[in-house]
Amino acid sequence: MSERMNEPCSRREFLRTTTRGAAAMSFGAFASGALGAPTTQPAPALPAGVLGRTKYPATLISYGAIRIEDQRGSRILKAAIDRGVNLVHTSASYVGGGSVRAVGGLFKADKRYRDKVFLCLKSYHPDRESEIDDMLRDLGTDHVDVVLTEFHKATPDRIGILQAQQDSLKKKGKVRHTGFVCHGDMNGVIELILEKAPDYFDVALIAMRLASLSDERKGDRADAESQRFLKNLQALRKQGVGILSMKSGAKDAVEKGAAVFQPHAKAVLEAGADSVLTSINTFDQVEMLDKLDLKSPHLSPAERKAVADFQDSSASACLMCATCTKACPQSLPVNDLMRIRLYHDTYGWHDHARREFARLGLDAAALARACGDCAACADVCPVGHVSAQAVHRVASYFV
Ligand code: SF4
Ligand code: SF4
Repeated sequence: MSERMNEPCSRREFLRTTTRGAAAMSFGAFASGALGAPTTQPAPALPAGVLGRTKYPATLISYGAIRIEDQRGSRILKAAIDRGVNLVHTSASYVGGGSVRAVGGLFKADKRYRDKVFLCLKSYHPDRESEIDDMLRDLGTDHVDVVLTEFHKATPDRIGILQAQQDSLKKKGKVRHTGFVCHGDMNGVIELILEKAPDYFDVALIAMRLASLSDERKGDRADAESQRFLKNLQALRKQGVGILSMKSGAKDAVEKGAAVFQPHAKAVLEAGADSVLTSINTFDQVEMLDKLDLKSPHLSPAERKAVADFQDSSASACLMCATCTKACPQSLPVNDLMRIRLYHDTYGWHDHARREFARLGLDAAALARACGDCAACADVCPVGHVSAQAVHRVASYFV
């Protein structure tokens, strides 16, 4: 528990929250569940689409709760819902459980907020129903709208494992829709699902870096992987799978403000997402939602230029394609290590990076000496993002 989310609520933020009708959310009142009526807001600025076969009218921007915690997090989420955001994603792994508790804090204080959103839960352990039960308890609800279970490698057995989990949860009324999350071998996983279980999943939460390449990458290996990804995404949509985007660069775009985030979001939607999931951690970012104009799906020439400039600024960012992992002679989870590097170096989420590294079950000291003169991952990476040095650097954070 550190970093920016532990900043105390500033006086400016507190005043802004209370003047928006959330006066009853002062700490004491919040703790006792004495919320007032939902904030009176102008008509939501955010248009909605349809989330695949769930038919849910998901707003084009949705709320990733990966960095919120405590009562301040609950207030930020409330402000976002009051502005019209109607899809929320959380998991027990975010902020060491703080995210689920913050979301649950809002729902328990005013149950109407649970009914205002399509609630998505990420699951890591399909064989452990208590994982879902614990989250439901902390969220103060008896069901979620979709469970998104990890599916990062194209291993056919995984489909059956997810089906057993999700069929059981649906039968017991704990989950309404099926789903998976992938930020690993995206093309391999999507192609496997299209072949083996094209009608099973209702929703997919997909890393979308592959959808937004800088112009300088066109025509090279990255472009080939990207074209394959876009085709797979459209095939999933055609099957009725609702697409939530993550890791598209939206977090960075949000931090740059509406002038960058609006065109970025439109580009991600154009590529095939039904809703752009992004973490929203401050009241300023919530207020930015009011400035977005997403009514037209078409990007103006100025918006296309803004997207191109933004993509150029991250031309060597990891595409999350897992090509490196497949090439590693030591079967190291190289793409996961690069994702952890992103959390640690780029986002500054040191605690989250440490927890994710722990989940890999690797010995950091051994990893720091693992590669020798191997360069297999560097040779295949389409954007020059990875090397033995990069792997050792990640290991060094956790020795
Ligand atoms: S350099 Fe290291 S991480 Fe990369 S492929 Fe070789 S052994 Fe694997
Ligand atoms: S490091 Fe390179 S090969 Fe590995 S997932 Fe990222 S972009 Fe793909």
